[in-house]
Amino acid sequence: MQSEIDLSQQRQVVYQSFEGGPGSCPRCGERLRQSKQTYSVATRRGRKLLDSFIMGSDFGWYCDACPVVVINSRQVTEMLGHSIPHWDVGNEFCVEGLVDLEAIPEHKRHLPIGGAENPMPLIEFQGPGLALRRQPLNKKERQQRKKLLAQKLRGGRHDRKQTAQKGA
Ligand SMILES: [Zn+2]
Repeated sequence: MQSEIDLSQQRQVVYQSFEGGPGSCPRCGERLRQSKQTYSVATRRGRKLLDSFIMGSDFGWYCDACPVVVINSRQVTEMLGHSIPHWDVGNEFCVEGLVDLEAIPEHKRHLPIGGAENPMPLIEFQGPGLALRRQPLNKKERQQRKKLLAQKLRGGRHDRKQTAQKGA
């Protein structure tokens, strides 16, 4: 499915709580367009970062003229309210960004997104959510990140080798 929203544009997130529509863009006054997308939402309780998970929803409204996306925080809260029993949803959340499902290679689509073999193609939002993501990683997350990085480096070397062989 082709998205009518330009996913490559860096979006600035604004949280608003409303019923119906949010009105016009809080930054430039242009029209906002509701769109169903896939998001990564992180939750926390106090300063403790809890789970982050993937949600398909239409809680985001995108400005036609500027990078603003208005997130309906009421709708997100409702979704978290009846969420998945195994998740610790805490009392605060942060919409980290869009998950670009199209960017996942065909042969990896059966793997869990965000696992070591299938890193999440996250298009990160700018704005209040950034503060949450800057929190120090715990030991497990650091190890996962190291592993991912190592994989990337291995992949890179492999590519260069192939290019060198082609050139020879
Ligand atoms: Zn705008």
